[in-house]
Amino acid sequence: MTGRNFLFVPGPTNVPDRILRAMHRAMEDHRSSAFPELVLPLFDSLKKIFRTTAAQPFIFPATGTGGWEAALSNTLSPGDRVLAARFGQFSHLWIDLAQRIGLTVDVLDVEWGEGAPVDRIEEALTRDRDHTIKGVLVVHNETATGVTSDVAAVRGALDRAKHPALLYVDGVSSIASIEFRMDDWGVDLAVTGSQKGLMLPAGLAIVCASPKALSRTASAKCARVFFDFGDMAKANATGYFPYTPALPLLYGLRESAAMLLEEGLDNVHARHHRLASGVRAAVRAWGLRLCAKTPAWESDTVSAIMTPDGVDAARIIDIAYRRYNLALGAGLARLAGRVFRIGHLGDLNELMLLGAIAGAEMAMRDVGVMVEPGSGVAAAAEYYRSTAAPLPGAAPAATAPDARGTAESEAAVAARR
Ligand code: PLP
Repeated sequence: MTGRNFLFVPGPTNVPDRILRAMHRAMEDHRSSAFPELVLPLFDSLKKIFRTTAAQPFIFPATGTGGWEAALSNTLSPGDRVLAARFGQFSHLWIDLAQRIGLTVDVLDVEWGEGAPVDRIEEALTRDRDHTIKGVLVVHNETATGVTSDVAAVRGALDRAKHPALLYVDGVSSIASIEFRMDDWGVDLAVTGSQKGLMLPAGLAIVCASPKALSRTASAKCARVFFDFGDMAKANATGYFPYTPALPLLYGLRESAAMLLEEGLDNVHARHHRLASGVRAAVRAWGLRLCAKTPAWESDTVSAIMTPDGVDAARIIDIAYRRYNLALGAGLARLAGRVFRIGHLGDLNELMLLGAIAGAEMAMRDVGVMVEPGSGVAAAAEYYRSTAAPLPGAAPAATAPDARGTAESEAAVAARR
């Protein structure tokens, strides 16, 4: 197929040309005396991205799943109890991993489409007077459902319960895209992967550990070799790794961090919010619903869009891919066939999103979901146009009859209720 593939799965995301060029390197000696010049500044950049001064970043050649395992195995012992909320496929998989490495997980099941249940977490911690719960696990952004949880509120629950458990946060589809504040939110272990907000290929698991988390490593008995923080910290201290690092990815990470910090994290977050809002305007104009139950849960990095009853979302995804060269995210586990997902994170702009919205619209009509042609595109385009930053010296954009399609489709949604 000619033209570019439109990659709109919520990771891996588009790798900017600047990063591709930075990764295009001949291999080199990772034990040379020059190597620390590449490695040591990476840790400072990661601290800025995780918004921490106190925590220590670790870079493993792995993926987000490896980051989950590293965070848990370095700080816990087999049989330790942890509390975890389950509200989507990734929170489910993290719980599964925790159980398989020998932890006992108290699972708080939540309807998919909602996020971390702060009150129930607080209740469970308050009941645990002997402090047998050693950790609380939260997926900040549940990529399967397009739901963002309030991590600061979970920290509030731990504090109100005066509970010493460590706070573990999966930031795989949030960190470097939407607001994440390791220190302010009292996060003890934060996990991400390279292939989402960091705009890199998959291949790095990045874990940040607070001083309190690091103080637990000596007594933590879970088996670990490859993921051992101790071995890693010892080698990292002088700018090396205990094994062969993924060299091109490290060069890519250096460039990615430079791009994010040049744009400014607040601007990165605002861009993600604006791009996501345009997608949500399109969804409303189509008269469809998000999996996220209320706007408070809506994610700025991925929208999981429910298809009407009787319509197999997998067919929309397949047509979009085969006919229009557009990769949409699939529904996972119990959402298979019921949602398609538009990832709106990483290196994106308005017109790229409009292409994805147009392709989704065409594929939906192809399978018989008769959304009005152009309705989603029009709603998103008007939203983007009317909220565009003013250009110096240029007349302001004419005030739009702001996303007329949006207002109409809200009525349409109300009528369907
Ligand atoms: N956590 C979340 C929220 C994710 O979205 C993913 C992957 O998409 C993972 C964990 C697992 O990461 P990986 O596939 O990099 O192992």
